[in-house]
Amino acid sequence: MTAEIALEDGQPPSRIFLDRLTAQRQTRAVLSILKSYLGSHRRPYLVFDVAASNDSEQSVLTARGAAIRAFESFSTETVYGLRLEDGVPVVDWPVVESFSTRHAGRDVLVFGFTFLLWTRVAAGLGDRGQSLGLGRAKVFHGGGWKSLSEQAVSKRTFNTEVAKVLGCSPQHVYDFYGMVEQVGSIFVDCEQGHKHAPNFATVLIVDPTTLRMVSPGESGLIQVISLLPSSYPGQVLLTEDQGQLISIDQCPCGRQGVAFRFLSRVERLERRGCGDTLAVRMGENRPS
Ligand SMILES: [Zn+2]
Repeated sequence: MTAEIALEDGQPPSRIFLDRLTAQRQTRAVLSILKSYLGSHRRPYLVFDVAASNDSEQSVLTARGAAIRAFESFSTETVYGLRLEDGVPVVDWPVVESFSTRHAGRDVLVFGFTFLLWTRVAAGLGDRGQSLGLGRAKVFHGGGWKSLSEQAVSKRTFNTEVAKVLGCSPQHVYDFYGMVEQVGSIFVDCEQGHKHAPNFATVLIVDPTTLRMVSPGESGLIQVISLLPSSYPGQVLLTEDQGQLISIDQCPCGRQGVAFRFLSRVERLERRGCGDTLAVRMGENRPS
């Protein structure tokens, strides 16, 4: 199997060649990371996205499709909670309500891009004044905070509001950070709200002028390093994102290695991330 991954950004897409071995490693990597949050049993999977984002017939896999597919290894059934209305994603109420009725009180997995979860789910469901009653849901989201930080939506507010709508614990809303060029290497929040690197990847927070690692407490550019890709040169990426180094081997959660926080994207650069460019393409930066 071969595939390419294209960024969705209105610019000529960045394409990377993905061979079978690299793809297998990426799948195994995501499984090993998510097992520490989900255990090994499968569960119903609600994706707050449109089904077309994960079209297996295409040879070009988008960033959104790659992320949706990564979580499918944990699913017994996959349900898409958004549909397109005049080209705009909206909540598919009959589908979402049917899912929540069938699986209320059971372990379920929920995934969505940060921007879509906030604008469509937190705002949309909140307006209806109802909770979905998915008390044992674990919610994963990623794909860019810039549009939300412009609205001063903090991580705490995001977790609280999303959890309220789904009916689950805010501690079970997990933000993860990762670059589409390094599918499989994701940096998931721990209970302290700090992001950690898995065994086969690491992250450096570097001074933008010297590219040297900063000291704990300081901020700098996020550089991500992954052992997974071997069919394209994606092992080391200096990102356009700013992060804060929290600690090394000292996070109270017990996980070793670098603990960091994502701060923001670097200003005055083109937006190239999947979630942030999604917000720009849809011409909106606030919940509707
Ligand atoms: Zn931690």
